[in-house]
Amino acid sequence: RTDNNSGRKKPNILITGTPGTGKTTMASALSEATQLRHINIGDLVKEKNLHDGWDEKFECYILNEDLVCDELEDLMEEGGNIVDYHGCDFFPERWFDRVVVLQTENSVLYDRLTRRGYSGTKLTNNIECEIFQVLLEEAKESYPEEIVFTMRSDTIEDVNNNVSSLSDWIRSWNTAA
Ligand code: ADP
Ligand code: MN
Repeated sequence: RTDNNSGRKKPNILITGTPGTGKTTMASALSEATQLRHINIGDLVKEKNLHDGWDEKFECYILNEDLVCDELEDLMEEGGNIVDYHGCDFFPERWFDRVVVLQTENSVLYDRLTRRGYSGTKLTNNIECEIFQVLLEEAKESYPEEIVFTMRSDTIEDVNNNVSSLSDWIRSWNTAA
């Protein structure tokens, strides 16, 4: 095999995509299936105060990229992490062996975000983010093309299929090392 060239015993996977595409759902299912460590960047930032305050306009914490990267460096070097975040351009390129961009059909995403309580500009911004494939473009610009994959996340069946194929890939990594 040629894809295991990081020297890590277990791979690091980044799961990214527009808010609501199902990153946390899939990352936790994959973590359960494989015992890899699920790192939800949003939760980590809140818990460890890795931010520069609250952004009133965008209604989210202003993530401090340096603090986040310093916090994670040792774990990422060790390997075996599933990182879950709606952004990917500030992590070091060398951290990841695979980058998964989740994609959801617009009307499905619209309903999910509405259920989450999003409305107005916040809702529109996120739907546009999905339409213009912002995260896919960001991933392609930030990582080698051959490690970036898109996966559908419209239905629970999609989650199961994605978890199953990623679990297979993780298992083959273990035996290839
Ligand atoms: P994200 O972490 O990307 O913001 P979540 O994992 O929190 O997204 O999912 C948002 C909502 O959509 C949750 O209610 C979750 O149960 C649901 N959901 C996520 N992925 C799917 C899917 N593939 N099929 C059906 N529902 C999903
Ligand atoms: Mn999430």
